[in-house]
Formats: sequence, structure tokens, C-alpha cells
Amino acid sequence: MTSTTENSAVGRSSSTVTAAEARAVAEAAREQEWSRPSFAKGLYLGDFDLGLIHPWPQARADDVERGEAFMTALREYCQTMDGRAIERDSRIPDRHLAGLAELGVFGMKIPREYGGLGLSLVYYGRALALLGSVHPSLGALISAHQSIGVPEPVKVFGTDEQKQQYLPRCAAGAITAFLLTEPDVGSDPARMGCTAIPADDGGSYVLDGVKLWTTNGVIAELVVVMAKVPPYTAPDGTEHKGGITAFVVDMDSPGITVENRNAFMGLHGIENGVTRFHQVRVPAANRLGKEGQGLKIALTTLNTGRLSIPGLCVAAGKWSLKIAREWSNARTQWGRPVGKHEAVGKKIAFIAATTFALEAVFELCAEMADAGQKDIRIEAALAKLWSTELSCQIADELVQIRGGRGFETADSLEARGERAVAAEQLFRDLRINRIFEGSSEIMRLLIAREAVDAHLAAAGDLASADASLQDKARAAVGATGFYARWLPKLVAGAGMDPRSYGEFGRLARHLRYVERASRKLARQTFYGMGRWQAGLEHKQAFLGRIVDIGAELFAMAASCSRAEALLRSNPEHGAAAFELADAYCEQARLRVDASFEQLWKNTDDADHAVSRKVLAGDYAWLEAGILDSSEGTGPWIADATPGPSARENLHRKYRA
Ligand SMILES: Cc1cc2nc3c(=O)[nH]c(=O)nc-3n(C[C@H](O)[C@H](O)[C@H](O)COP(=O)(O)OP(=O)(O)OC[C@H]3O[C@@H](n4cnc5c(N)ncnc54)[C@H](O)[C@@H]3O)c2cc1C
Repeated sequence: MTSTTENSAVGRSSSTVTAAEARAVAEAAREQEWSRPSFAKGLYLGDFDLGLIHPWPQARADDVERGEAFMTALREYCQTMDGRAIERDSRIPDRHLAGLAELGVFGMKIPREYGGLGLSLVYYGRALALLGSVHPSLGALISAHQSIGVPEPVKVFGTDEQKQQYLPRCAAGAITAFLLTEPDVGSDPARMGCTAIPADDGGSYVLDGVKLWTTNGVIAELVVVMAKVPPYTAPDGTEHKGGITAFVVDMDSPGITVENRNAFMGLHGIENGVTRFHQVRVPAANRLGKEGQGLKIALTTLNTGRLSIPGLCVAAGKWSLKIAREWSNARTQWGRPVGKHEAVGKKIAFIAATTFALEAVFELCAEMADAGQKDIRIEAALAKLWSTELSCQIADELVQIRGGRGFETADSLEARGERAVAAEQLFRDLRINRIFEGSSEIMRLLIAREAVDAHLAAAGDLASADASLQDKARAAVGATGFYARWLPKLVAGAGMDPRSYGEFGRLARHLRYVERASRKLARQTFYGMGRWQAGLEHKQAFLGRIVDIGAELFAMAASCSRAEALLRSNPEHGAAAFELADAYCEQARLRVDASFEQLWKNTDDADHAVSRKVLAGDYAWLEAGILDSSEGTGPWIADATPGPSARENLHRKYRA
């Protein structure tokens, strides 16, 4: 069997991958079919279809019954766990791992026929939130195992044999991990250096490379690994293109070393490592899907996997609200409880309103995913982006409300005889959510790609940097036809009729605003397209605002729909839910209006020029007068070849 490294991005040495090739690899992995309706896609196209999220989707009675029974048992068990000890020892005790396995936590989302609990996504998310409120490392452990680790891709892409082989094992408590990132591969998988070379005449692959920041990797039994198969000619003469491919790998396979247990500013209990593969033989039967399908598998896994983090953000919001309420009543300064000073009161209102919206967004996405009739790709991505950004703001405000105590650790507070409130820990723990499973910047690019998809399809070569002038001229004719039909639809809509959405009472005007803003958003995207054409993809600040506006509009619509549903299902809280939804919408509208204004009135070009000069060193003189203790400690990015750290296999140590 011969392997060649031809002129494809995945076959090239990582350092030579160009921006265009990186985009091409991401584009090839993108799911392009839209066979089911998408509420959020419509939002970006000026087509606000409230009927897709209202009335609130109804969960199946059986799912609710099993979910509630499980939550009762989990809550009881969670009360026996000590989150403070996890924080102090930076470890989740083995007895908790065993206890959680006993409860079935490692198989919450695995179908019952494979030994799992078969819970709905709604209850899976609520369980994560509960676990995360004990210690966020528990949420990360379960989410890395079940949202992106072995069970999910095997469930969706595995063969029957693979499902039989792995799912019962995972459900019983075999911890798993998802290994995509490498020292040189963060947001850009085209640079992937990990290789899987076909061997044994097609019977196996030989895996080589290093994976970085493998959550659960230190203690995992099984991992999903993304590696690139080079183009090769099979013994029967057939040509194979290879490409990034997904494998299930048993961590007991010879040649695997876990070289470091990484430590972070937050998530102190996670077992996150550097995993090295040296000539690791992986049976071809362990390959998930086809060669070259790996990135698609990873991205598809993330589509619903992304809902875990919003679930965890809900827990952060709820805890912040509770602490903010209790503390702001208890602490008196300048003659009144601090919560009654307007500056603090505004923060409390932000936390309350945003927590209501966080829950609405998570629950709506999860209910829709469970019902399965809608395409929730964009909603899940929006939920991840928006929930992580807003929950970090909540934690920041909570620290501020707590004053000096917000900066003090729980242990120190307790040692002085005060209540051990870990606000600083929340602030640290939440921060990573804006980086992993798609950083906020990358999420904005992914969502923008979907949001302007219709424009790109219509404009075709007009929006392609590589097209000839002739092709562009032809494309312009086609695009003109599309826009001639589409633009008039963006002029008027239900949001202009003061009677629209009347059944929502005081919230109706917010829905009318969303409808109007949705059309405006589509028009503005069109103007951006007209102004920059192919250059639009580089206008990240412009596109980022477009995405952020859509996220707020989605959260507003979700909040209104949820308030209306709560009024019907739980009249006791219904009126309060309307107040909170109203408060969220009022706050969000100010942000939306500001973003609309900044689309065209901003410092983007000036900032770009400044950043160019910073990078060129023109302002390096400004850095004088400080010491940088990191200088001389090592290179920016560790060499992937075994370095001085390759001494001990921590996997053996910790698994034992
Ligand atoms: C605690 C922790 C747990 C993790 N768990 C896992 C895991 O289980 N499995 C796994 O595979 N990975 C894991 N990761 C890796 C994580 O997913 C990556 O950190 C993340 O994808 C970002 O990659 P990077 O850190 O290399 O940043 P880079 O890609 O180097 O990016 C640096 C900065 O540039 C921005 N940026 C990059 N490209 C662009 C662009 N085209 N346009 C605009 N901005 C851009 C990024 O948003 C970021 O702000 C984990 C990381 C941490 C810290």
C-alpha cells in the first residue's frame, strides 16, 4: 500500500496550509442540506416565523416521567458530593465517578436498548446543570464524555456492530473523550498533524501524533480521535483520497502515552491531558464513517453537543441570581441594603432577566431537538455563543455585587467565619466556555456563513474572490433576479401592525420589534453584500454584529414564547414570567439598536490599522517599563515531537 502527499490541504504539511485551503476544509465538512425548517435561519433572512417556536414544543409524557424520576435520584446523590473538596483537591474523587456510573449518568443520552437511560436532551441538560452546580468539572466530565466523546458519534455514525460494542460499555461508566485539538491545530483543523496510515492491506491504521487539551483524556478508557489519512493506492489498485477521519481508540492500546495533566484557571477537577500516539495500531473496524468524513462527524456531533454548555450556563445564571438576591438584601451600606442602591439594582435586574432568557433559550433548543421536526443547527450554535457570553457577564456582575468578597475564595471566606460563596470561582470556571467547543469568534464565523448562505447562493461568483470578471457579470444578472423578488418582501411585515401577536399581551410589542428587526437585519446583510461582495467574509466585525443581533432576537422570541407557555402551564408564575421576559426584551433591544447603529458607524477600519501597526512592532515602545517573566521559558507552541515532558504515562497512574 503506498501513500502519497498530494496537493490537498489535508495531505500537506501543516505549516503550508493557506487561508483558502483552511476555509475549503471547513466548508467541505459543513452540512449543507436544509431538509427541515429552521427558525433562526429565517430570522437572518427577514422571515420571522413565530409558528416554528410557538406554541412551546410539548415534551412526551414518558420522557417527562422518566426524566423527573432520574432528576430526583440525581439530586439526592448530588447532595452527598462536596464541590469544595473537588476545587481544593483539583480532582473528582473515584467514589463519585463510581456513584455517578451506578446512577447511569454516563449513559443518560444513550438509548435504553444499549443499556443507557435514553433521557431526552431537555433532561440531559437539566442533569448537567445540576451536576455543574455541585462543581463545573462534573459538568465538563459528563459533557466531554457524552456530548462529544465516544457515545454520540457512535450513536449517530456507528455501524450496528460498533453500537453493540461501545454503547453498553460507555453507559456502564467507561469514560470517554474527544480528541481533535493539537498543539498546532486549534480552530483550524486543516493544519492537522496527527496521521492514520493504512496498514495490513486495509485491516488497520497506524496512528501517530499528539493531541492537546484532551478533557477526560487522563482517565478515559475509550477516545474518539481525529487523524488524517493521506491519499493512497490500495493493493487492488483503487485510489483513495484519504482525509480527516474519526477513529474509536482503546486507551489500553500499546503506544499511547498521556504526558501531562493540564491545569487551568478554572474547571479544577477536570482530567485534561496531552495524549501522544506512537505507532498505535487501530483496527479498520474502529473507523467511524468513511475516510475523510471525520470533520463532518466532529461538526455534526457538535451540532447537538453544543447544547450542553448552554445548559451549564443556565445553572450559573440561577446560582448567581440566588446569591445576588440573598447577599444584596443582607449587606447594608450607606443606610440601605446594597441591592436598593440603583447601581447594584441594575445589575440584579440584568442577572434576573438574563437568567430567564438563558433558560428559555436552552429549553427551547433542547425541546426542539427532542421533537426532531426542526433543524436546530443555527439555534444550537447561537445558544452556545450567546449563553457563554452573557453568563460571563452575569458572573462579572456577581463578583462586583459581592464587592471585596466577590474576589475572595470560598475557603478564605469560611476561614474568617463567613459564608463560603465561590463567586470568583464561577467567574473563572465560566471563562473557558467562550473558548472551547468553538470559540466565540469561530462561532460567529460559522453562524455568519449560514446567515449569509442565501446571499452567497444568489450571488454565486459575484461573491467569489477567484471568479473572472465575465463570471461575475453573469452572476450579477442572476443575483439581480433573486433580489428583485426577495427585497420587496423585506419592506413590510406583521411587525408593522399594532394588533399582531395580540395573544402575548405586554410582550406583543417585543415580538413586533423582532419581526421588524429581522427584516432590517436581512436588508443590512444585503447592503453589506453589495458593498463588499467577496470581501464580506473578511469583515468579521460587521458579520459579528449581524450574528449577535440575530442571537438577541432569537433569545427575545424564545423568552416571549416561554413566558406565554409558563402562563398556561403554571399560572402561579406566569405573570412573573411575563415581567422577566419583558425586562429581558427591553434590555436586549438596547443592545440590538446599538449593534445596528454600529454596523455602519464604528472604528473597524481604524482598529484594523492600529492592530496592523501593533503587529508590526510600531508601538513596541509603549511596552517599556515592565518585566515579562514568561520570556525564555519555552516556545509559544510546543514541538509535537517527544520533548522533555514525555516521561511518564499519567494514564496508567490515574486509571489505576
Ligand atoms: C480546558 C480545555 C478543555 C478542552 N477540551 C478539549 C477536548 O476535550 N477536545 C478537544 O479536541 N479540544 C479541547 N480543547 C481545545 C479547545 O477546543 C481549543 O482551545 C479551541 O478550539 C480554540 O483553539 P486554540 O486554543 O488553539 O485557539 P486558536 O485557534 O489558536 O485561536 C486563538 C484566538 O484566535 C481566534 N481565531 C482563530 N481563528 C480565527 C479566525 N479564523 N477568525 C477570527 N478569529 C480566529 C480564536 O477565537 C482565539 O481567540 C480544550 C481546551 C481547553 C482550554
